[in-house]
Amino acid sequence: MTEVNGAEQTAGGTRPAIEARGVHKAFGQLHVLKGVDLTVMPGTVTVILGPSGSGKSTLLRLINQLETLTGGSIRVDGELIGYKVVEHRGKRMLQTLDDRAVAAQRAKIGMVFQRFNLFPHMTALENVMEAPVHVKHLGKAAARELAVKELTRVGLGDRLDHYPAQLSGGQQQRVAIARALAMQPEIMLFDEPTSALDPELVGEVLGVMRELAQAGMTMVCVTHEIGFAREVADQVVFMDGGVVVEQGGPGIIDHPSEPRFRDFLQHVL
Ligand code: ADP
Ligand code: MG
Repeated sequence: MTEVNGAEQTAGGTRPAIEARGVHKAFGQLHVLKGVDLTVMPGTVTVILGPSGSGKSTLLRLINQLETLTGGSIRVDGELIGYKVVEHRGKRMLQTLDDRAVAAQRAKIGMVFQRFNLFPHMTALENVMEAPVHVKHLGKAAARELAVKELTRVGLGDRLDHYPAQLSGGQQQRVAIARALAMQPEIMLFDEPTSALDPELVGEVLGVMRELAQAGMTMVCVTHEIGFAREVADQVVFMDGGVVVEQGGPGIIDHPSEPRFRDFLQHVL
């Protein structure tokens, strides 16, 4: 257990959906994140830009507890992730959460990766039903209804019984989005969801993401799709070398102030 420090305060007004403070992450000697702060308000879209190796995936993986922090703190929906605050001899201390409690925190977050990782031997419908049945212990009929609803939402209501191999990359990624949505997360994290797709399939996935944003989903998207960032983002964050170099509204894409961000934009635009 470690003693709680000053980070244990709640700000007035609306509570952030995600609040990362002074986040550090090292893999052995490799210091990947060097003090990242990030605040994501509910119902907003944050786009994270940055060159390969800047720590974008690591940050998302930390938020979703696929990695553990080396330093700093992350709150999701006001709750510290990975820890709970306990009273111990009159002091407020942090205690590591057990697996069950971690799973409950992780259930608030849906994540979509570059590689869709669908189960190849299961149909689209079965892929989407899997977690609601096996993780949430929903009945088959209710899970099926939910899966049909989410697959319809991503435009695949007519592909329920198709296997991944029978679907295009864009369709497979939309199944992966439906699969995440079927767990009814409060927050969706997207890690370069269109990077593995043929160019003509990118638009259909971005379209689904745009609709999700319009429906009020809280989203953090790592993407190189600058057009999407410009149109959909409420907040743009540019990372380089394990720190946030510049952040602001989508206007910073057309008026970057940091030279490193300007250089990056020249390469991706
Ligand atoms: P980005 O998503 O911005 O390309 P990453 O967060 O994937 O960056 O990676 C940042 C750095 O951390 C890279 O140098 C990468 O090789 C390293 N890294 C990521 N994950 C691991 C890991 N599990 N073990 C060791 N090094 C890692
Ligand atoms: Mg990455």
